[in-house]
Amino acid sequence: MTSTRPTWAEISRTRLIHNHDVLRRLAGSETELLAVVKANAYGHGLAECARVLERNGARWFGVTSVEEGVALRRVCPEARILIMSGIWAGEAETAVEQNLTAVVWEPQHLDWLEEAARRRRLGAGTIPVHLEIDTGMSRQGAAAREVTALTERMRPGSPLRLEAVMTHFHSPDDGQGTRGQIGQFVAALVAMEVRKPRWDFVSAGSSANLLLHDDTTALSGVAKQLGARRMVRAGIALYGYSPLPTNADAAWGAMGEPSPVKEPGLRPVLAWKTKVTSLREIGTGTSAGYGATFTAHRPTQLALLPVGYADGLNRMLGNRGWVLIRGQRAPVAGRISMDQTVVDVTDIAGVAAGDEAVLIGEQSGEKITADDMADLRKTIAYEVLCDIAVRVPRVMVE
Ligand SMILES: *Cc1c(COP(=O)(O)O)cnc(C)c1O
Repeated sequence: MTSTRPTWAEISRTRLIHNHDVLRRLAGSETELLAVVKANAYGHGLAECARVLERNGARWFGVTSVEEGVALRRVCPEARILIMSGIWAGEAETAVEQNLTAVVWEPQHLDWLEEAARRRRLGAGTIPVHLEIDTGMSRQGAAAREVTALTERMRPGSPLRLEAVMTHFHSPDDGQGTRGQIGQFVAALVAMEVRKPRWDFVSAGSSANLLLHDDTTALSGVAKQLGARRMVRAGIALYGYSPLPTNADAAWGAMGEPSPVKEPGLRPVLAWKTKVTSLREIGTGTSAGYGATFTAHRPTQLALLPVGYADGLNRMLGNRGWVLIRGQRAPVAGRISMDQTVVDVTDIAGVAAGDEAVLIGEQSGEKITADDMADLRKTIAYEVLCDIAVRVPRVMVE
């Protein structure tokens, strides 16, 4: 049954397409842009977003489990799907069958894939893999000294084919940190080149690298020299958010340096909405919510919203967050409950049951972004977006 509870997230098709176009332009025609749709497309809805992106020309998608890969394969039979987190025990068979491409960095990844290939009697070079090199993230990826042993196993005759060499930057919003990693990465690529394995892509960089004039642009030249192309994997910017600090521009200005930040005009794709379902007046001295953490200091008009922390509205927003009603800010009154939230609408004239309340999005020229919500929670827009629970229906809009 479709949900009839008035709490939903609107996903804008045109904004997603706009951001995708912006990022492709920033990447340039020589670079392959991989659309990161892990974690249910950062909370935006995997299947719907992938369909829109594929129709807009996206060929490569990145997910972080075979499960997500299988779900994506169902809607995008032709797409290239990268399992960026690698595969786990027992998953190689499905990965191969569904034509999901694994990121690999440990011998056991190769063991599993070779075994699956043997069972399916697949020929040489039929299973492309992306080899990750760890350059300082220390999360996944092979150390430079382990690379030779791994690439030896992808020599001609093996079912495995080295399609890309990748790395991941830990501080893409900080040129210095990335510079060190680029140095290590290029050194590893050059060392590999001596042994003459062939690969198609040098895969490095995320949204932040596309939004900055930084040293990663040099990687396109390196890729070309090695007879490959660069691949960039962008997630958050597709959904309209920048991973750069909001004051990055000002900070560079203060240092007397020209800002490296590009101004591409990304547009937030998701709006999170609910409706006022009930209203009440409480008198001075009356409390609201669990723990009675809100007390009225004047006759107060409260509005009830059918959304709570089980929907991903974080409890940190109790007495701190706000929503938009009739184009004005209504502060959260008291703690957020599991399924309900109360807001103070005393200063907003004419609020009625049925009025739309915007948790994230725009209303009458006012707006509240996932970044605003993240600041109140001391986190990042990524987490705010991913937190929106599966039970909140995603509705595609223009
Ligand atoms: C999530 C992820 C990305 C995308 O990062 P954004 O900052 O969202 O652009 C790229 N590469 C890897 C390996 C990732 O895990």
